[in-house]
Amino acid sequence: MSSPIETFEQLALSAPLLTTLVELGYEAPSPIQAATIPLLLAGHDVLGQAQTGTGKTAAFALPILEKLNWADRQPQALVLTPTRELAIQVAEAFQGYARHLPGFHVLPIYGGQSMSIQLRTLRRGVHVIVGTPGRVMDHLRRETLSLATLRTVVLDEADEMLRMGFIDDVDWILEQTPKEKQVALFSATMPEPIRRVAHRHLHDPKEVKIKTSTTTVSTVRQRYWRVSGLHKLDVLTRILEVEDVDAVLVFVRTKTETTELAERLEARGYACAALHGDMTQALREKTIEQFKAGGLDIVVATDVAARGLDVQRISHVINYDIPYDTEAYVHRIGRTARAGRAGDAILFVAPREMRMLRAIEKATRQTLEPMQPPTREAIAGRRLAQFKQQISEILSAQDLDFFYQVIGEIEEEQEISAHDIAAALTWLAQRDRPLQFEGKADPKEPEEAPARPERTFREPKPEGRRERRPRDAGRDSADLDKIRYRIEVGREQGATPQNIVGAIANEAGVESRYIGRIEIFDDYSTVDLPDGMPAEIFQHLRRVRVRQYPMNISRLDGQELAKKRTRAKPVMDNDSQPFERKSAKRRPAKPMDDV
Ligand code: AMP
Repeated sequence: MSSPIETFEQLALSAPLLTTLVELGYEAPSPIQAATIPLLLAGHDVLGQAQTGTGKTAAFALPILEKLNWADRQPQALVLTPTRELAIQVAEAFQGYARHLPGFHVLPIYGGQSMSIQLRTLRRGVHVIVGTPGRVMDHLRRETLSLATLRTVVLDEADEMLRMGFIDDVDWILEQTPKEKQVALFSATMPEPIRRVAHRHLHDPKEVKIKTSTTTVSTVRQRYWRVSGLHKLDVLTRILEVEDVDAVLVFVRTKTETTELAERLEARGYACAALHGDMTQALREKTIEQFKAGGLDIVVATDVAARGLDVQRISHVINYDIPYDTEAYVHRIGRTARAGRAGDAILFVAPREMRMLRAIEKATRQTLEPMQPPTREAIAGRRLAQFKQQISEILSAQDLDFFYQVIGEIEEEQEISAHDIAAALTWLAQRDRPLQFEGKADPKEPEEAPARPERTFREPKPEGRRERRPRDAGRDSADLDKIRYRIEVGREQGATPQNIVGAIANEAGVESRYIGRIEIFDDYSTVDLPDGMPAEIFQHLRRVRVRQYPMNISRLDGQELAKKRTRAKPVMDNDSQPFERKSAKRRPAKPMDDV
């Protein structure tokens, strides 16, 4: 066996891609990338057991980009994703990785988006298509898309596709692809139906599984915050305010992020520095020395740079970005609780990454405690306590004769009491760090929200990579009036709640949590959807197919949909509409070719 792959240079990727990775600040391939990229480059089929957050998008996108035939403007690769959010994310990732490959075209295709734009772009020529099964099938049936030229097919999050009832569609789509092709299937779990698809469509696949050796780390208190409502940076600073911290090691994924986050923390008044693999050995050592000696309170590091770091002062490890695998997690949290001290580890985990959290719990044989971001009251209380403490320390430790004299003069000259002067001085002292902390109100956390419907096939809308505030923060389906609809597919057509939810969620842009009760009858089903469905979405849904049959949705009460209803009920603010507006909210359906 050749030596293990530790750098991108070892992966035989061409210069434009390597330059991009350097620019993105990626320091080293993640385990799934190190294992998968050489296999895909060598032309093997791959069965990869990996979840979101492991870096699997680059694991398939980089080899696809590497192997593109630039003369051919017909689709060469197809990536199927369970949801349109993921389709958009993956298409964006392709575009990002192709920033030094001029002329590269990727097209995301998903339900609800204008067909004509997709068609126009298809005609102009695209190299890679990323789509949800429903819309890809639509195109194939209308013969507006041919997969005859495909050389690679990727099934991303295959278990999600299974859960959403798409696996037969995936099977059907694969049958429309050329015999000779490369297939990569990624799934967090490998239940039997997925293995069957793999067996039918993958040729002698190489299995890639991220190692999850079990270790126990007992002296570290481990908690996690499920990212929602507040920005990660705000929550980090709140934690730094209220916890008993000594030195803090923060882990992020890229070199660029180490410097960016360190700068932002510095701007907020913390003694902070970055630690990454591109620093000279001298600077690296100096940073670590300062960290040990107390000159720095926070270091923001990548996994590679923090390898073996031994600083006994580290009281807290903050996993600002989730690690790629459980080994990295164990290594990270092992940077605290050193030399018999106690230590705290806090993990920020996006809703989509909850599976990685479960994998970590399994590997460490410990459950992580959920935590809420410190509240405004907690921060204000802490600041006040510190302020009072400071006053008593100053009174007992400082020589204040001169200052008593100043107070006396002010009392006399301005005829005001020492009490008034103290109030004014208190105001002055807290200006930069207000005692009446007015940070953002703490959002209602999901745990406290009304119970969600039982069928939760999907996590709520992913936070995405840009820490968007969830549109639904603080609201839930239970708050909304529902209308019962009838759809013309039932048990006899093979409909299941999963594929109904999958079709409606993807095609109407309704988050699955807003989809209410579903009842399946012999030849029709009913589904409760929030009141206020815009007419255009209703029209679109009528044509959407479940198990190949058009839904032909109609209101069960026989009423026509109010003609001009294009806004959701006024009780909802802009951030909490269950229906995604076609024009305003969705990202431009523009082909992503302006690299
Ligand atoms: P994924 O699991 O593909 O959704 O990737 C999760 C995140 O990790 C994305 O934000 C990527 O940009 C980032 N990422 C992927 N590979 C690397 C790497 N080798 N180094 C640093 N960040 C990475």
